[in-house]
Parts: sequence; structure tokens; C-alpha cells
Amino acid sequence: MPLVDLKDMLRHARAKGFAVGAYDAVDSNFVAAIIEGAEAARAPVIVSFAESHFAHYDFPALVAAAESHAKRARVPVALFLDHGASRESAVEAIRLGVNGVMVDASHLPFDENVAATRSVVGMAHGVGVPVEGELGYVPGVEGVDAERHPGEIRLTSPREAALYVDATGVDFLAVSVGTVHGRLRGEPRLDLDRLAAIAVTVGVPLVIHGGTGLTDEQLRSLVARGVAKINYYTALSDLAAAAASNALADVETGYAAAIDAVRAAVADEVARTCEVFGAAGRADETLAVCRSWRNVEHVILFNWSDEVGDRAAEFEAEGRERLSRLPGVREATVGAAIHADAPYQRAWLIRLASAAAEAAYMKDPAHLDYANRVFRPHAADRIKGDFLRD
Ligand SMILES: [Zn+2]
Repeated sequence: MPLVDLKDMLRHARAKGFAVGAYDAVDSNFVAAIIEGAEAARAPVIVSFAESHFAHYDFPALVAAAESHAKRARVPVALFLDHGASRESAVEAIRLGVNGVMVDASHLPFDENVAATRSVVGMAHGVGVPVEGELGYVPGVEGVDAERHPGEIRLTSPREAALYVDATGVDFLAVSVGTVHGRLRGEPRLDLDRLAAIAVTVGVPLVIHGGTGLTDEQLRSLVARGVAKINYYTALSDLAAAAASNALADVETGYAAAIDAVRAAVADEVARTCEVFGAAGRADETLAVCRSWRNVEHVILFNWSDEVGDRAAEFEAEGRERLSRLPGVREATVGAAIHADAPYQRAWLIRLASAAAEAAYMKDPAHLDYANRVFRPHAADRIKGDFLRD
């Protein structure tokens, strides 16, 4: 099954009254386990990458691994940037392969949160990527992630939530109704009336951060009130640590046995929570209503004009440098023909995140400047085409 459009996935979830689990991956073993767990439950799934975890792994390599797993998955998958720090983080994550982003400005005052989120929405929507915003504040209490979310809880106001969604254009809204990042201390108390009021004033799918520590009953009551995405990580981390620790108690068991134990523990918990969230058994119907997420290749075969001479390398370097940084561009490379008698001796390959990204690229001022000033005047002999990737 392919990667699918996350907006389609979560709209379907909200319409049908279930939630998709968004599980943070911290290595390729987690990626495999998250997808295996979802496959066991026949559930759509979101593999997330939290920017606060980037110190623990090589983000470009892990997203590439996740993309490879997702393409071979037997359930619909989306790849997500969780708690991105900036617009630049979102551009980079889309370049590397995610197809949904959250940029977290929830610690800022309302107007600044709106301005920061709007800037991300403008960029991301331009290239076909949906955006999650957060209003209110979900703090950390204890556990592996808690210190990354300092401060006091601020519950989401239903009235502000409606204003925020209108002003920013976000596709999904993370709300604060009593959950915390990391582990809970004591009994979790949720403000379900507040959540129900937000769901009435806001049409977009709602998101809960801090799913760990809630009872299954509480999780179901969140889903029943409009939550369509639940971020769930700390419990996976705790189970993985316990599984690794058990397996490694005897060194002679070997490291690979610990990997297997972690993978099984994470996959089991993912499958279990897919059942609790109501996502189990929903893979086929979700796939049927989701657009598939496919890259576009913009290919130009060309010859530099004779008068270009030695400047060709400089022209190509400028193109690679400028074009590869544009939103929605996954790579901008130029290659040389391997046969001296080929009619075209050079080729640009611009790989774009989506058909929307191709349209945005064609209108981008930086691209037009390069095309009109450098490339087209010196490469009159060229053909081009745009191709959807499998
Ligand atoms: Zn979070």
C-alpha cells in the first residue's frame, strides 16, 4: 500500500468516529514495529518524528527508512514531523519525505502563535502538505519527554480554538484538555466537556498529545468527542526499555535478541492501542478514500549552448544550490549522459513532493529567476516532462 494523504486519512477518521495513532519512531526498529503493529490490527497509522528526538538519530536516514517501510506496508501510512521548531524545520522535513507537519508555537501568546503557524501553513499548503497547530499548552510532568515540555498546563479555550483555526488555516488542531507529555503523576483528570465544546466550535480533526497513562476508557471517551489523532510515545519507550533490559540481562543472549524483543513489544502495544482508538480493521476503507501520496519528477534533457563553455559547471552548481532549497523540492540534481553520441548530454532531475509542489515550483520566484536568467538563455536545446512516481 502507498503512502497516503494525511488530511484525507484524518478527515475519514473523524467522520467515522475513530482516531489514528501517531507513534514517534526513534530508530528503524521502531519504524518497522509501528508498521507491523498497525498491519496486525489492519489499521491506518502515522509514523512521527519529533524534532526533540533528533539528537538520538540521523533524521534524513530514518525518514528514508520509514519511506521505504511505508511503501511496502499493507496498511495506509503517513509520515509526520512532530513538534517542529520552525518553518525551516518543516521545509526540511518535507524535503526529506514527511507528508504532514506540526510546528509547535503553543508556548507563544495567541497572536504570535497565529502568526508563526500561518507562515508554516502558507508554505505547506502550497506544496500539498497538511499542518497541525496547537492551542493551549500540554506540559511534561515526568518521563523521557517531560523535560522537553516545561511549564504549566494551559487548557484550550473553545472560543479561541475557533478563532485560531480560522486565522491560521490549520488542518488539525492539538488541544490541551488535561493530558501531559511523558508519564502522568497520579490519576489523570480530563476535561471532557471542554473537549466536546471545542469539537462543536471547530470543524477540523482534533489531536491529543500525551496519550500515555490514560486508561483505555479515557482514550475511548476522547475519540468519542472528535479526537482523530492520538500521539502515543512514552508507553512505547517504557515497554521498549523493559524488553531490552530483560533480553540483555544475560549478555550471551546477544544484541540481536534485544532488537527482536523491542520490536515485538512495540508492535504489540501499537496493535493494542489501534484497537482502543477504534482504528483496527479500518485500513481498507481508509485507503479507499485517501489520495495516494506520490512524488513528481520534473525532468529536463538539455545541451548547454556552445558559448557556455567552462561556465556550465558554475551554472549547474547555482541551480543545484538554489533549487534544492525551495519548499516541496526533494532533490535537484544534474547528470551527464553516459553515451557520447546521445542527443542530450545533460539532464536535470527535480524531484518534488507532490503534484501541488510541482505547481508551486513552476511559479516560485527563485526558480523563475534561475530559469530565465541562467538556464533558458543558455540551453535552448532541451525537452522536458513531469512524471508521477510509483
Ligand atoms: Zn506532543
